[in-house]
Amino acid sequence: SLTLGIVGLPNVGKSTLFNALTSNDALAANYPFATIEPNVGVVPLPDERLDKLAEIFGSAKTVPATVSFVDIAGLVKGASEGQGLGNKFLANIREADAICQVIRVFDDPDVVHVDGRVDPSSDIETINTELILADLQTLEKALPRLEKEARTHKDKRPALEIAQQAKEILDSGKTLFAAGMADSPELRELNLLTTKPFLYVFNADEGVLSDESKQAELRELVAPGDAVFLDAKVEEELKELDEESQRELLESIGQSEPGLNAMARAGFHTLGLQTYLTAGPKEARAWTIHQGWTAPQAAGVIHTDFERGFIKAEIVSFEDLVASGSMADAKSAGKVRMEGKDYVMIDGDVVEFRFNV
Ligand code: GDP
Repeated sequence: SLTLGIVGLPNVGKSTLFNALTSNDALAANYPFATIEPNVGVVPLPDERLDKLAEIFGSAKTVPATVSFVDIAGLVKGASEGQGLGNKFLANIREADAICQVIRVFDDPDVVHVDGRVDPSSDIETINTELILADLQTLEKALPRLEKEARTHKDKRPALEIAQQAKEILDSGKTLFAAGMADSPELRELNLLTTKPFLYVFNADEGVLSDESKQAELRELVAPGDAVFLDAKVEEELKELDEESQRELLESIGQSEPGLNAMARAGFHTLGLQTYLTAGPKEARAWTIHQGWTAPQAAGVIHTDFERGFIKAEIVSFEDLVASGSMADAKSAGKVRMEGKDYVMIDGDVVEFRFNV
C-alpha cells in the first residue's frame, strides 16, 4: 500500500506525533494479517458513511480505509552529502509515495529549536534544500547517459529535455512538485525525491489552532502541498483517554475532532486516493483506490479474480441509498445503475460487483 514518509527537523514533535499514530488496537482487530512494522503508523480514515451503511444492511462491523505513515528518522543538514544517516534517510524517502513534513509552530522555551528560533519557512527550506541537492546529484549522474541516448535515438529526446528542465528548476531552489512536474512519466524512472507530493503537518499550539488567518498564511506558504494543523502533544494524550474525556479535552481547546482525523484525510488526498463502499451482513467497508480508476480496477482491490472475471458493477451513490432507505427501495426508485468496464469510480459509490469465476 502507499505510504507517506514523515520527515522534519529535530525537536519539532515527530516522535510525539508518531507515538500518537501508532498502537491502534481497533485496527489490529480488523487487519489481523497485516504486518504492522514498528516504524509504520496506520491511521483509519474516519468515515461516518460506514456507520450509516451498517445500519441499513445490518452489518456486524465496519472496516474503514487506512492511511500509512512511515517514520523516517534522521534528517540532518548535509544528508545529501551522504554522511552518517544521510544515505539511509534518502533511501527511505525514496520508498515513500509522498513526503509528510512535520513543522514546528508551537512556542515553548523549554524545547530547544535546532536553529534557535521557531521559523516555519526556514524549516521548510532546510528540508527542501537537502531533497533538492539529492535530486541534483541523481540528475547529474543521469544526464550524460540521457544525452548519449538522445544522440542515437530521436525518441529519447523528450526524456533528455525534461531532465534538463528539471535540473533548471532544482537549480533555482524549487522542488519539482512545486513546479508542477510531479506527473511527468519521463522523470519516473529517475525516482527523484521532490516529484513526490507533499503534506505539511504544522505542530501548533492552541493559539494557532483557533487562528484561521494564521493558518491561511501557512497554507499559502506550502501550496501546492496539503496542510494540516494539530497539537502533537494533545494527540498523544487523546489516545490514553476514553471517549468522554477525549471529547472534553478537544472541547477545551476548541476542536471538534482529533487532529489525526484531519491528518488521515489529508494524507489520503496527498496520495491521490479515494474510496468506494461495500456493505452486507458481515461488514460495511471502505476500499481504497486511486482517483480515476475504473470499475474493474476497483474490483481488483477486493480480489484479483474480481478484476479478471469482471462483468458489471451494480452501483448506487451513498446519498441516493440513504435517501431511499434500503437497497430494494433504491432499486425500485431507479437509483441503482449497472455500470460496465469503462466506468470511472466516484467517491462514495456503494458497489456490488458481478463477475465470472
Ligand atoms: P522530534 O525530535 O521531532 O521527534 O521531537 P519530539 O517528538 O521528541 O519532541 C521534542 C520535544 O517537544 C519533546 O519534549 C516534546 O514533548 C515537545 N513537543 C512535541 N510536540 C509539542 C507540542 O505540540 N507542544 C509543546 N509545547 N511541546 C511539544
